[in-house]
Amino acid sequence: MRFKYKYSFAFLLLLFMPLLAWPPPASAAVVKIVTTTTDLASLATTIGGDKVAVQSLVPNGFNADLYSPRPSDLFKIHQAQLFIMVGLGLEDWARDLVSEANNANLVKAQVSTGIALLDVPQGHVDYSFGDIHPYGNPHFQLDPEAGRQMAKNVFNALAYVDPSDKDYFAQNLAAFESQLTDAEKKWTAEMAPFAGVKFIPYHESWDYFARAFNLQIPESIESKPGFPPSPARVEEIIRTCRADGVRLIVTEPYYDVSVAQLISQQAGIPYLNLYIDVGGTPEQKDYISTVDYVVTQFVKALGNHGK
Ligand SMILES: [Zn+2]
Repeated sequence: MRFKYKYSFAFLLLLFMPLLAWPPPASAAVVKIVTTTTDLASLATTIGGDKVAVQSLVPNGFNADLYSPRPSDLFKIHQAQLFIMVGLGLEDWARDLVSEANNANLVKAQVSTGIALLDVPQGHVDYSFGDIHPYGNPHFQLDPEAGRQMAKNVFNALAYVDPSDKDYFAQNLAAFESQLTDAEKKWTAEMAPFAGVKFIPYHESWDYFARAFNLQIPESIESKPGFPPSPARVEEIIRTCRADGVRLIVTEPYYDVSVAQLISQQAGIPYLNLYIDVGGTPEQKDYISTVDYVVTQFVKALGNHGK
């Protein structure tokens, strides 16, 4: 779905400008950053500290795949110095937004650079392959090593836009990396007993999590990313659960949770309904606490049902 502009930018600017001031900056020199997702906003805040003012376009508890931009997004981008996105077509809706925002000095960065991607389509690619993953799977945020690379990419973008604060950003990056390393040890230990466990997610948003923690995903409930399952597909998934010893169904709240519930009941296995981005729940206050929350819920769901 494309963002259609009914009004000229100048007209919208006049109409909305008084309502859309950025939060008062701590100092005059802060870098104004707009990110697509809340995860990226959190990382930009962690690395940028008090040298940045950050806003995300996608609100808490929502999904970049399904987001439709609002006119106010134009003004956020118009006033920003740095725009950070995931990439890989996840934010196809952002392309027109950025070009219409009338901001020639905007620096654009994407954090998928350097990440070992999964589900990269081979051969001819068009949107009949599914929603929105035409260049590979963009849902890598639950892999801690992808988190590490995302943070590095955010650092590079910040150091480019504001080279005078590069050392400060580098210190913040080092502190983040050290916390992430500790957290990753904890997560790896907590998930180790479940190596090889099979689970089925609604959307292809768990493939990197499965790779990071040695889990298996025989299928997703969607037949292709962005295609809700037919009744026949639901039956097929229930059969797969029984035949393959699948232990858990996982969905995010913005998908059809009732389908996940139905499969869980019919297959006699638990299901989890989880936000996987920063801000989804109060506990998910930054990148590390978001992954921590997901790991904790996952372990709880599997642990309660024996191995
Ligand atoms: Zn997706």
